[in-house]
Amino acid sequence: MVIPASSVISQAPGTAAKPTPQAARTGRIFDIKRFSSHDGPGIRSTVFLTGCPLRCAWCHNPEAFVCHEENAGNSRIREITVPALVRELERDVSYFDTSNGGVTISGGEPLFQSAFAMELLRACRKRELHNALDTSGCVDPSVLMAAASLADLVLYDLKAMDSATHSEWTGVGNQRILENLRLLQTTDVEVWIRLPLIPGVNDDEGNLDAMIASLSKTRFRRISILPYHKIASAKYQRLGLPERMTGVEPPTPERVEQIRAHFAAAGFDPHVGH
Ligand code: SF4
Repeated sequence: MVIPASSVISQAPGTAAKPTPQAARTGRIFDIKRFSSHDGPGIRSTVFLTGCPLRCAWCHNPEAFVCHEENAGNSRIREITVPALVRELERDVSYFDTSNGGVTISGGEPLFQSAFAMELLRACRKRELHNALDTSGCVDPSVLMAAASLADLVLYDLKAMDSATHSEWTGVGNQRILENLRLLQTTDVEVWIRLPLIPGVNDDEGNLDAMIASLSKTRFRRISILPYHKIASAKYQRLGLPERMTGVEPPTPERVEQIRAHFAAAGFDPHVGH
């Protein structure tokens, strides 16, 4: 079912994620990416849920929180129940099994639709499908902990260690995100840290060293370095959104390798692109 643009979730930037009622079992998604090798181990199907409390200037999925009137006819946003979604995902079970892959729940911020996301995590677990939760961490702590208890893997974004910088580029400070990461430290769920590497925003030595210093106090060692790229530019034009990243070039392979080596030398397990 295609949702009319006027009814699509569209919250003001910077507002905290408000969990959906726990009874809800129908959610809104804007894509399912099959055969993904970037969102966790093995071959995965990544489900993209609408809604996000952040407004990252480099966001590759602005359709998560915006549905421009002109885009309504082309929108892939649809409403779906968990059982129907799981039936779609189960088509790829043989790929999951042969690659140790599974399902990744992403967005947007998947916990913006917390009841739906948790129901989906639960359903994956019931069917023994490996599940990963890809979160910005900008969520209510109790919601994050409940979701983490249902997840096999949490992919956790760390964008900038300085809160003012974080706020300037994402619309929100990082206090809740850092606090929630500390909370995850008290669980035994596997966590991969994801660093979207954005030139001029968070690729400076000060930020990287602060990240290393902070993460060194945790049990989290797996780092996914995700270099900025420009493929979302056309989406911004199509959605009529201002593009703040104009003129920003992707980091060079040499710089990415320098940063990967920097994390490795500090005792981490860094990977580029996944
Ligand atoms: S947290 Fe992710 S989905 Fe949300 S605005 Fe940032 S990049 Fe986009």
